[in-house]
Amino acid sequence: MPVKFIKTVNKSTFLDPANNFAPKTVNTEVRYDPLTGQISRIFPFRKLILHRHDWTPFVEESKQKFCPFCPAVVEKVTPKFPADIAPEGRIRVGDALAIPNLNPYEKHAAVVIMSSRHYIPMEEVDVRLMVDSFRAGLEYLQRSTGADPDGARYASVNWNYMPYAGGSLIHPHLQVLAGARPCTYDRHLINASVEYFKSYNSNYWTDLIDAEIKHGERYLGKTGRVHWLSTFAPRHVGDITGIIPGKQTVDDLNDSDLTDLAGGFKKIIDYYSRCNIVSFNAALYFARREDTGFTVHARIVGRFTIFPLVGSDITHMQILHDDPWTVILPETIAGELRALF
Ligand SMILES: [Zn+2]
Repeated sequence: MPVKFIKTVNKSTFLDPANNFAPKTVNTEVRYDPLTGQISRIFPFRKLILHRHDWTPFVEESKQKFCPFCPAVVEKVTPKFPADIAPEGRIRVGDALAIPNLNPYEKHAAVVIMSSRHYIPMEEVDVRLMVDSFRAGLEYLQRSTGADPDGARYASVNWNYMPYAGGSLIHPHLQVLAGARPCTYDRHLINASVEYFKSYNSNYWTDLIDAEIKHGERYLGKTGRVHWLSTFAPRHVGDITGIIPGKQTVDDLNDSDLTDLAGGFKKIIDYYSRCNIVSFNAALYFARREDTGFTVHARIVGRFTIFPLVGSDITHMQILHDDPWTVILPETIAGELRALF
């Protein structure tokens, strides 16, 4: 079982102004993702104290402005799909509604309006809301693949909750994409998973689950079929991975899988809320049937700003060097979050 958790600890020394300029040594970690080898930096020396950001003024202001996703106008102002995708115009599942993205950034780009409610506080995000929304997204992806097999080969379902995470509208919505080629990171994941399978005749993702269970420090538990891990080499604060063994493509997830997935998300979102992490990004990653060795999985990361209202948690490291970082050890997150699983 060749999954390896490799990290190096850097010791940096400076003369400490808080201690009469005596020498002080600080440890930081560089970790390597066991699949892709990508670096993740961890600066655990800084205690992250987040003050709860109150979205109320933003929400109230947004209610005064025009919202295209609210029920009074949604039928009039949002686009409809061509007949080959949806003869009914828009794809409804429960209270969720998939519509074309007016500003597409991939050949097939939809938005799932997750609810008729304009604002859903974190603690009210529930399993039903997520299951219906994911199902609407998957339905769109399956129809896109059917209508355009060459142009909708690689897909993802994405969620930016609130402005810190890049959400441009308060009204909760998913971004659903399919194109001829995978996104850059997705391509790394898929290629490395396929290579791993060819090299070891074994699935990386199930090997990762086994390795994390054996290791113990980052394994959180299961919701139904889905295994949850505090990610060894995090892409951001509170990075959690949920793996659905045996599933590979957008056609493979049934409603029971989606319920299991949403059940885990619910626990993590509640945990974020308790830690005053009031925004997050999440993604579901898929591959194609021929990409043997890949497994459908979800990733969710917390988003925050250290300064209220302005500021950002994205720096030169992510934007100009492609190195994600976090200030909290994944093992610390796991210790706190495991109790909810
Ligand atoms: Zn709205």
